[in-house]
Amino acid sequence: MHSQTVKAERTLADDFGPTARSIIAHYYRDVSIEIIGDSIAVSSASVDATQKATDVVTHLLSTYRPTVERTIVPPNPLASGIPLCGCSDRFESLPGFFINGRDWITEIQDILGLLQKHFSDLTGGRHFAVPSVINAEVLAQAGYLNKFPQAVSHIYRLPSDYWQTASASTAVYRSGDESQNLEHGRAALNPVACFHALSKADLFVETPPSTVSIQGSVFRHEGHRHDSSRLGEFSVFELVHFGDASSCTDFFDQLVKSFSAIFSEYGLPIRVATASDAFFGEDALLRRRMQMASGGKIEFRVLLKDNTELSIASVNQHRDYFVRAFDLGTRCNIKETACAAIGLDRLAICLRGLRHDK
Ligand SMILES: [Zn+2]
Repeated sequence: MHSQTVKAERTLADDFGPTARSIIAHYYRDVSIEIIGDSIAVSSASVDATQKATDVVTHLLSTYRPTVERTIVPPNPLASGIPLCGCSDRFESLPGFFINGRDWITEIQDILGLLQKHFSDLTGGRHFAVPSVINAEVLAQAGYLNKFPQAVSHIYRLPSDYWQTASASTAVYRSGDESQNLEHGRAALNPVACFHALSKADLFVETPPSTVSIQGSVFRHEGHRHDSSRLGEFSVFELVHFGDASSCTDFFDQLVKSFSAIFSEYGLPIRVATASDAFFGEDALLRRRMQMASGGKIEFRVLLKDNTELSIASVNQHRDYFVRAFDLGTRCNIKETACAAIGLDRLAICLRGLRHDK
């Protein structure tokens, strides 16, 4: 066993350990982290992994700020946590990617239909399905590539004139030799659905304030940590609002109420809390900008049987972050934006757990 110790310069908040563990676990499966007072001990069987993980912990210490969380709506004191039961009509194809059976497909479509209808007054029936692929340039403009580079799956393609440029004698596709010919396609699998609507707001909005609903597949690379509730591919329903400070605040308040009502109608044991992400590895300017972007984030968390929680939805006030990122002020007179998203797979898993428990 190899071990290294890093000393923190200030008192560590309670959530440092879980955050550090979850980030380290993304790449180094067998590295363990122990926090003793203001020291962090990193250990594993491999010298190399211990050294690399120690570097990450040192870096994390310099950029980490504790998460300030506030419960807005406490869970019903009579509610008990629900189990995450296995789904017999879903089969894992790759870690985090599922082949879904008929009941699951129907369940997701039913939920989508209900949500679309529920919010049709708000959206005026403007509902869109977004593609699974997004221009990587949009992710860069949105700050996502800098903030979560490890969560993005890039798409690489052979040049389209591959057969013309290969000479007659070498015009044989050699499997395993792709690295010679690959070009970065400047595209990625979609890690956030609403970037499609935000970056192309001029196509969606005639006169703000305006709200549209979207549905789509979202892809997050979670290292080896994929499981039935931490998916590599999942589907979302989102409401995206384009307007100004006051219309975005109204949207935010209205959606927190609507989501609370929907989830309590389902009978889910929910806690509503403020959230912010622990940032890792970005510069101070980006941190400040992203904190402004997540200035208002409310999460809806379902209580599980093992006393953990599963976040199934969030309402987000972006302020003018995306207006500046995508130049929406000059392009279409938008001053601020906000969005509200529900993870359909997690909601469906929780509804199954609830039924299982009854
Ligand atoms: Zn969004």
